Amino acid sequence: MSVEYSRGMATEAIHAGEIHDSSGAHIAPIYQSSTFTFDDMGAVGAKAAGESDAYVYARSGNPARTALAGKLAALEAFGLENGAEGVSAEIFGSGMAAISATLMGLAKAGDHIVTQQVLYGSADHLIAEVLPGYGVTNTRIAGLDPEQLERELKAHPSTTVVYVETPANPTMTLVDIGVTAEIAHAHGARVAVDNTFATPVLQRPFEHGADVVVHSTTKYINGHGTVIGGAVVCNDPEFMEERIASLIRYIGGVPSPFDCWLTNLGLKTLPLRMREHCTNAMTVARFLESESSVAAVRYPGLESHPQHDLATRQMDGFGAMIAFDLGSYEAAARLLDRVDLCTLAVSLGNLDTLIEHPASMTHSVISPEDRAASGITDGLIRMSVGLESADDIVADLDRAVNG
Ligand SMILES: *Cc1c(COP(=O)(O)O)cnc(C)c1O
Repeated sequence: MSVEYSRGMATEAIHAGEIHDSSGAHIAPIYQSSTFTFDDMGAVGAKAAGESDAYVYARSGNPARTALAGKLAALEAFGLENGAEGVSAEIFGSGMAAISATLMGLAKAGDHIVTQQVLYGSADHLIAEVLPGYGVTNTRIAGLDPEQLERELKAHPSTTVVYVETPANPTMTLVDIGVTAEIAHAHGARVAVDNTFATPVLQRPFEHGADVVVHSTTKYINGHGTVIGGAVVCNDPEFMEERIASLIRYIGGVPSPFDCWLTNLGLKTLPLRMREHCTNAMTVARFLESESSVAAVRYPGLESHPQHDLATRQMDGFGAMIAFDLGSYEAAARLLDRVDLCTLAVSLGNLDTLIEHPASMTHSVISPEDRAASGITDGLIRMSVGLESADDIVADLDRAVNG
């Protein structure tokens, strides 16, 4: 009798995708090689006939990239009814390479993209300013409101992709993936979700009907601030092979073997890290909410977040990204000048706490009018709560606000 048995997420994070080569090395070595050798023409023929999975050239693949892709695909597919079957990942040289390959894979000249108002700054710029030059137009809908989405999809039958980022950078606005997917699919469009903020530990978009998941692996997936990288995960093998794998090959935004190796190492502790990140962030969010000089705190775990119910339904935890508003540029700048443990820097998802001012840093490429429309005020601060002792993070903020 065979027993149905599925491994826990922490086990998958550590063991899925790992490659054990003939050297017996416990941790797979880094294959720092641009090309791979064939024994003879028989081996070349077998590769050409699709009968071997031999590596040929590192733009198409290398062992560390395969290992990382396997691990990430297993985590995004975690808990799916048919397991990881049909779910695969491609690793890119940056999150933006992954996002641009996804959008170019899903939309060609004459096609339309529908997306939300608030997006990661560079994704916003790609959709608003770059893709129109290649004949791909777009419509923005605040929060991808279902009624408006339905209307826009009827008005633009050429829509091939609805692009979602939830929680959104930097305002922590959420989008209901399930509702979005139902409407998009009824109109023949696919749904791509940027899952960078939540990670597969806290949110698995395929469970809710998404077709493609993208990541900036630079952030929580790597977790240690050592690499720029990205990933596309897809549950349609044909789409993956024909569009995504083809785009990474021909546009060439590939990662290095060392970057894949480091990211794979970081990913092993993702479930452990996210648990602690969430606990620390809740403590920090509650402190900020209790401070009278903080005008507003946006953290999906707080009951005061307008989409707290959706967060509870859609996510397994609320993450460690917090946005809070001090009411003016001067007040925000004063806090940012005074923090010490919290480090003034863009990026997020590292072991240590990073803090930044979206309007003049991550989202400065967006026009002031569009920033205002997206709720990115001059007093807004974005914080990536790290894994230091929560009391020390709170003490640093307390001193910066009240000291
Ligand atoms: C950082 C980030 C990106 C872009 O990723 P890079 O690795 O910097 O290219 C995309 N989406 C979100 C939500 C991000 O935070």
